[in-house]
Amino acid sequence: MDMQIVLSVLEKMRQFRSRDHWTRQQLEAYQADALRSLREYAYAHSPFYQQFHHGLTDAPLHELPVLTKAMLMEHFDELVTDRAIRLEEVKTHMRNLTGDERFLGRYWVNATSGSSGHPGIFLFNRAEWITVMASFARAREWGGVKVNLTRRVKTATVASTTPFHMSTRVNATLHSWWMPEIRLAASEPKDSIVERLNAWQPEVLIAYASMARILADEQLAGHLQITPRAVFTSSEVLTEETRRRIVQAWGERLFNQYAATESGSLAAECDHHRGMHLMEDLVIIEVVDQDNRPVPPGVYGDKLLITVLGSRTQPLIRYELSDSVRLSPDPCPSGHPFALIDAIQGRVEDVLSFRGAAGGVVHVHPLVFSRIMDTLPVSGWQVIQEAGVLRVLLSGVRGEVEDETLAATSRQALAEQGANVPRVEVQRVPAIPKTAAGKAPLITSNLSSSSPLSDALDSGVSVQEAL
Ligand SMILES: [Zn+2]
Repeated sequence: MDMQIVLSVLEKMRQFRSRDHWTRQQLEAYQADALRSLREYAYAHSPFYQQFHHGLTDAPLHELPVLTKAMLMEHFDELVTDRAIRLEEVKTHMRNLTGDERFLGRYWVNATSGSSGHPGIFLFNRAEWITVMASFARAREWGGVKVNLTRRVKTATVASTTPFHMSTRVNATLHSWWMPEIRLAASEPKDSIVERLNAWQPEVLIAYASMARILADEQLAGHLQITPRAVFTSSEVLTEETRRRIVQAWGERLFNQYAATESGSLAAECDHHRGMHLMEDLVIIEVVDQDNRPVPPGVYGDKLLITVLGSRTQPLIRYELSDSVRLSPDPCPSGHPFALIDAIQGRVEDVLSFRGAAGGVVHVHPLVFSRIMDTLPVSGWQVIQEAGVLRVLLSGVRGEVEDETLAATSRQALAEQGANVPRVEVQRVPAIPKTAAGKAPLITSNLSSSSPLSDALDSGVSVQEAL
């Protein structure tokens, strides 16, 4: 471990703390400056941006074109600002990754889990990587877990252990400093996770929302017996019912956070529990509709556009994330200058498309299903769209669930959305199937996302729209 890096992270956190007391005007002035520097750098060093923003270098941010992951990956070698970086070599480096190695000796490489098939790859130089690590530490501090050199916090993380996932990489860099920490793979069997947590007795528990819900149920059943002073959830939609169970198990000490491989931590909850504060000094975040028009507070956007102010190796300007979030219209009593998001309802990929009863296509949002499934006495649920059938998986059913009633309720909800209602099958399973990273998405589609919607409609089946 590199002690200089640890000290730099601590220094960065001191900077961050002072910004919690900024006024909104101070924050906006800072953003304007940082954005100007980012754009100047990109125009000077990225052949891609010289083209992409051609004739627009003085245009305001909201007039710039949107960058998608597909574009980023396709133009990788021209987009990066160091001509020594070649995507093919980065991929080779990733395959051989085991710990804290750096590409070309100076870049930490991270990749998205690529649940949609095509992982995004992101490189961070030393300064960028320090900011990423400090952003995660800041999320913990907002949850009341102070980070310093003399008070190390006994932590358990139940997440992905894949070497190129961001949480694994952050851990590899900070290993001995952040210790004592145990990392458990979310894909491990539940009983073994429970046993190891009981033995470890963490002060802080970090887990995907689906895993935190299972562990809360285990705690309530008396199998798990830990008393963390903070529980952090991330990476998945945290539903109302999941929050309620976690609070029931461990008290009002749950802090949700929202992070992206592209940027590090994007937003985190403070101890007022009013939502998650966007880290707007690090990232400019636009909540927009399908046509990239801004959406007002109180309304769910279709996606986010993020501009990562400190990005230099791989400048990200109006980069598209397919998460549907809602800005809160109300301020938080904490007095932070940072805007709040009060809900995330999932990703565009979680929106299922059905043939409309009156023709056309009907898009059904994840909330339609979570309203029905979330309060069932189960430890996990998942809705899977397949050709001509919607399967509802339930695991850990403890009370009365009438499968037929549930199927009927689901059919009715789809009919109310105007969908041509498919067959609905309820199935009980020992555990909700997890992705390679150990996540258990609430909504998923097994229909080929590459088949054009029109083809699928002609054949009479519903598909998830290819986006
Ligand atoms: Zn707050």
